[in-house]
Amino acid sequence: MTVMTSSVETGYFGAFGGRFVPEPLERPLEELASAFAEAVLDPDFEREYIRLMVEYVGRPSALTECLNLGRQLGGGRLFLKREDLNHTGAHKINNAIGQALLAKRMGKTRLIAETGAGMHGTASATVAALMGMECVVYMGAVDVERQAPNVSRMKLMGAKVVPVTQGQGVLKDAVNAALTAYVEDPETFYLLGSAVGPHPYPSMVRHFQRIIGREAREQIMAREGRLPDEIVACVGGGSNAIGLFSGFIDDQSVSITGVEPAGKGLETGEHAATLVAGAPGIIHGFKTYVLADDQGEPAPVYSISAGLDYPGVGPEHSHLKDSGRANYVAVTDKEALDAFHLLCRTEGIIPALESSHALAYALKRLPQMQKDQILLLNLSGRGDKDMDQIMALEA
Ligand SMILES: *Cc1c(COP(=O)(O)O)cnc(C)c1O
Repeated sequence: MTVMTSSVETGYFGAFGGRFVPEPLERPLEELASAFAEAVLDPDFEREYIRLMVEYVGRPSALTECLNLGRQLGGGRLFLKREDLNHTGAHKINNAIGQALLAKRMGKTRLIAETGAGMHGTASATVAALMGMECVVYMGAVDVERQAPNVSRMKLMGAKVVPVTQGQGVLKDAVNAALTAYVEDPETFYLLGSAVGPHPYPSMVRHFQRIIGREAREQIMAREGRLPDEIVACVGGGSNAIGLFSGFIDDQSVSITGVEPAGKGLETGEHAATLVAGAPGIIHGFKTYVLADDQGEPAPVYSISAGLDYPGVGPEHSHLKDSGRANYVAVTDKEALDAFHLLCRTEGIIPALESSHALAYALKRLPQMQKDQILLLNLSGRGDKDMDQIMALEA
């Protein structure tokens, strides 16, 4: 089975993706799509992106085998792709730099962005400072409270943070506010933080995150001389996951698992497990699996992890689910927290709560695997931003 999922021209991944936006956004998004299609063919553009990945982000990020955890759990071997070691502490910087380079190429001087956990806001503020651009970040008011250190970081780097009080004051509301701002001023560049949104964003974000999968594939081949048996990543909008998966999608021997947040338990309704519990629909300008309320509006969603509580998901993941190439599961807050603490204590690595969801699934899987089998997990970010939240839970 070959799953052809690239769609730079059409914006469709099987039945999912596309562009369903208000009329004033059609032209700017079409311009963006053309500029992107042109940029990826320009070797100078690629060279500058790679230069910044190496000299500014610190890539390639390490591949670490968790020997202590392996001994403790038995079963398969666990390797972490260390996106937590990137400048700004997560995978989001890969995409932010790519899009900012594109913005520059298009002659834009002002970036707008939405953010949940604040990691994309931080990445956007960072690239804006680096490239001398203005930056406005929309962030749910509740998230502003939950993620105070990232708000301070954004402000220090000169970005303006706009707290969004509409709706639940979380990521989906920040996306609405940022889309509205973009409609009002289409001359700005909307720097979108995940593999979601109307075409060309899902293809574009995938392109700039592909470096994760490309490196991971080279690193595991160099170290072990073979491919992993299973690869795993957490899925919010799905950008770190698609970055890793893209390196292995054509390798049928590699099984692929995306891990969503089951929050307080799927049965409670308080979760954000879009692919596991949702249905196809339209959200924020594209077709994908959605968690919707009775009116068909994006449902209120919940996760302990601000970066995962989005009621939609990247359209390519919807396609990978329906085609059967990838499998999607969900783990609870509690399971993610236990995994978080275990990694801290046994390996001396403090993971982001988002990444801890992937880890929680890996902890269940590893004992079921043979001792020579390999599970490769994308550690999408570090947990510094979650310290206050974790400490409050301990208290
Ligand atoms: C934002 C974020 C995520 C979720 O976003 P994806 O687009 O699904 O990758 C996961 N991990 C970390 C550390 C994040 O900051």
